Amino acid sequence: AFNFCAGPAALPEAVLQQAQAELADWQGKGLSVMEMSHRSEEFVGIAQKAEQDLRDLLAIPANYKVLFLQGGASSQFAMIPLNLLGAGQVADYIDTGIWSKKAIEEGQRYGQLNVAASAKADKYFAIPEQASWQLSKDAAYLHYTPNETIGGLEFGWIPEVDAPLVADMSSTILSRPLDVSRFGMIYAGAQKNIGPAGLTIVIIREDLLGKAQAACPTMFNYQVAADNESMFNTPPTFAWYLSGLVFSWLKAQGGLTAIEQLNRRKQEKLYAAIDNSSLYANPIAVADRSWMNVPFTLADERLEKPFLAGAEARGLLNLKGHRSVGGMRASIYNAVPEAAVDALVAYMQEFEKEQG
Ligand code: PLP
Repeated sequence: AFNFCAGPAALPEAVLQQAQAELADWQGKGLSVMEMSHRSEEFVGIAQKAEQDLRDLLAIPANYKVLFLQGGASSQFAMIPLNLLGAGQVADYIDTGIWSKKAIEEGQRYGQLNVAASAKADKYFAIPEQASWQLSKDAAYLHYTPNETIGGLEFGWIPEVDAPLVADMSSTILSRPLDVSRFGMIYAGAQKNIGPAGLTIVIIREDLLGKAQAACPTMFNYQVAADNESMFNTPPTFAWYLSGLVFSWLKAQGGLTAIEQLNRRKQEKLYAAIDNSSLYANPIAVADRSWMNVPFTLADERLEKPFLAGAEARGLLNLKGHRSVGGMRASIYNAVPEAAVDALVAYMQEFEKEQG
């Protein structure tokens, strides 16, 4: 079967097989990674290798900390202002869809936010041009969502602003090379291109640490996490280990340059199939289409059920769109092979033909 789930998403087959082989007895130590002390030499080795592999993949500069946290990307919606937004300061946010809106709603509880631009007037079908943004003077940071997982709207460019950029990369991280030095902070829930849900990766420039509000919970404080190598409390050890397997798998695939080529082809094939048909449609401005999440509708809503049933019968799983927007959505993260896209395109064409 091929899994097009938006998250938790498909993991590389080879990673699952390795995890299975090591599940009860990790490297002959007689115990599972799940049963190891997080302070043990073995686990610290696993943790450090995972971090180093991630650093290698993204070429993360030395003046950035990599934190392995818990609570999902949603916890970051609060942690970001609690850590980066001081009294009397304002933070700019760009509203491009459901996830950026959630970040704004939660962030407003902890400080003054300015929504500098919104894609709402364009029905969230296009990224607002930067020339139209109403930026604040001396903003503490600018938050944006490079890829809206539900809407399928993606920035093909990195904003140029004076304030540190804070980016929710949950559904686009590791899909292609990235210039980390352009960002103050990058964060991502793991359950798409990284590993099991719950684990949350934060990549933060060191000069942004140590500014937390007094009310910031200890567990939410980036400085505390950095000072304790992400082990202030018991970290999600198994998720960290499994993510490490994904990082080394990705390196073995040729790293982000190689995965970019693959991902480029996958999305091109799928959008071409949609655009060349009279049954399927995707409303997003072509330049702003997501590589990882491809939503599409059928010309007649009544065809959705038979389309999904036929897909499932062929092992094409989880194509139903998000409950808030309906339609279909194919998430084609790193672990979804090109053969899955080929099979989906073939099925879409066959289904369209059947409809006459
Ligand atoms: N941000 C984006 C872009 C997402 O796609 C998601 C989840 O799908 C989240 C945030 C929320 O992540 P979590 O469920 O890890 O809190």
